Amino acid sequence: MSETHHTRVLIIGSGPAGYTAGVYASRAMLEPTLVQGIQPGGQLTITTEVENWPGHAEVQGPDLMIQMEEHARAAGTNIIADHIASLDLSKRPFTALGDTGTTYTADAVILATGAQARWLGMDTEDKFKGFGVSACATCDGFFYRGQDVVVIGGGNTAVEEALFLTNFASKVTLIHRRDELRSEKILEKRLLDNPKIEPLWFNELEEVYGTDMPLGVEGVRVRNVKTGEITDIPCKGVFIAIGHAPASELVIDQMETHMGGYVVTKPDSTETSIPGAFAAGDITDYKYRQAVTSAGMGCMAALEAERFLAAEK
Ligand code: FAD
Ligand code: NAP
Repeated sequence: MSETHHTRVLIIGSGPAGYTAGVYASRAMLEPTLVQGIQPGGQLTITTEVENWPGHAEVQGPDLMIQMEEHARAAGTNIIADHIASLDLSKRPFTALGDTGTTYTADAVILATGAQARWLGMDTEDKFKGFGVSACATCDGFFYRGQDVVVIGGGNTAVEEALFLTNFASKVTLIHRRDELRSEKILEKRLLDNPKIEPLWFNELEEVYGTDMPLGVEGVRVRNVKTGEITDIPCKGVFIAIGHAPASELVIDQMETHMGGYVVTKPDSTETSIPGAFAAGDITDYKYRQAVTSAGMGCMAALEAERFLAAEK
């Protein structure tokens, strides 16, 4: 049955930004409600070791996010398993509609919906998605035990995915359009030192090819961006790791965004172009996109929401 739930602060998203906002808003006695979305815990739930979260030399991403959830809950955050389908920021209280049928009204909103994997957008990538083409080595790597796979991209994600895949695959080819990686130097060194990984520089994916019955990948065709030379690389798995796009669909028509959909916030602030709506984490951060920076912004958003509501009294 549909119901309406009012909260002073509605936090949308359950990554590091959302849970940190929950901790701080709870401690400000705002009794926040946090809606988790379809990926409770956010992006770190699809990785393995996290080695740059202060206080842990190494922690598993999913474990870290369970700890954050427990912390937010213990602080007093009302955590709800729902996904916000639409959000109306044109008047206050703001109104959000959940997939469960619940309507959420809120005096302030913290947007912490993060980012989602980007795809190359080619037909053959789409055709084999879930049948050899993946954007998550942690989720699908184990299907490729003893087989050859390729990873597309040159950032931290691509390098980590390639390293992780060496646990299963016989060979990992990292295909990158330049000859320079964006990843942290320590990860780059691990990649270049790993005998199972072969980098293929200056190449872009042209197409994925394979069989129709059963649907499955047999290889990729790549093009050298300098010479135009086409090469076929036989493989059974293709991991696309070309970055993430901000999950700003709920607000893109309502507030100022830039750089392909990132929510604009005021300098040194999480305030958006709509008073009472704050944005934290990867939805607004095109630069750092780290768990710790997202958590920091979640803290800022909760403190700013508290001040905004207090000023209204
Ligand atoms: P996210 O973690 O993206 O979470 C977004 C949340 O919003 C999710 O819970 C989702 O369910 C929710 N949501 C989305 N839309 C809706 C909606 N309509 N309604 C309700 N909820 C919604 N960073 C590091 O610092 N160290 C690392 O080692 C590291 N490893 C990484 C490995 C991988 C494979 C990836 C992909 C990223 C990694 N990162 C790492 C980056 C880090 O995960 C992100 O910077 C961080 O998770 C961003 O946090 P966030 O809270 O902004 O959003
Ligand atoms: P990213 O840093 O944006 O890197 C994306 C990579 O994909 C780049 O190398 C880019 O090439 C390539 N690329 C983009 N579009 C392409 C296309 N159309 N065709 C071919 N190649 C394409 O993304 P990310 O690696 O997912 O990282 C996202 C954020 O999360 C970063 O801030 C990263 O630091 C963070 N993260 C951190 C960790 C960690 O700390 N251990 C782990 C994972 C992610 P160019 O280089 O040529 O642009």
